[in-house]
Amino acid sequence: MYCIECGVKLGEAEKKCPLCNTAVYHPNYVDRPGKSLYPSEKMPKKASRSKALNGAMIILFLIPLFVCFVADLQLDGRLEWSGYVAGALMLSYIAFALPMWFQKPNPVIFVPCNFVATALYLLYINIATGGTWFLSFALPITVGLCMITCTVVTLLYYLRKGRLYIVGGAIMALGAFMLLMEFLMGVTFQLPFIGWSIYPLCVLMLFGGLLIYLAINSSAREIIERKLFF
Ligand SMILES: [Zn+2]
Repeated sequence: MYCIECGVKLGEAEKKCPLCNTAVYHPNYVDRPGKSLYPSEKMPKKASRSKALNGAMIILFLIPLFVCFVADLQLDGRLEWSGYVAGALMLSYIAFALPMWFQKPNPVIFVPCNFVATALYLLYINIATGGTWFLSFALPITVGLCMITCTVVTLLYYLRKGRLYIVGGAIMALGAFMLLMEFLMGVTFQLPFIGWSIYPLCVLMLFGGLLIYLAINSSAREIIERKLFF
């Protein structure tokens, strides 16, 4: 008898494939005693991310960092553009490589970390370019987006139900956020308030509202689910 899923040879008494956990059913073999044919020492070990790989990732990020600093210094003896590259590299390291250090990276912790790193990077660019847009524009926008995203991530991660409500509510909050964005842009860059934010506001409100309507109306939801297979 062989596993229908992965093809490994099975013992006659096995109820589950030792490799892929597929249930075994054979109408002629009913509860016969026996043992697994697949040698236990050859069972695949649970995948664990090796520390060596994570160390290699750090080196992979450090090499371009070092090359940039050296190249920047070579040009005219001081650091100019390499700070931006360093910031971007660190951002991508925090976003993609840092969670790999953990067996089960918790997005409720890592998502805010990414926003903090982004805010610090924007602050650096603001200072380096002598801008005045960080406090009145970049910071409130980052904080606002961080609050919306973290709320969604936390709710989706810990609640098993109500995903449509959560996503719909977040999309509507994002719509309202557009108004704030236009206001802050106007204040920071002395732009007149022309109301462009009304358009994304309406679209996002409608879309978020539609999701919440689907969350409430189960028969409408079933029709859509059947059509889109999700
Ligand atoms: Zn199998």
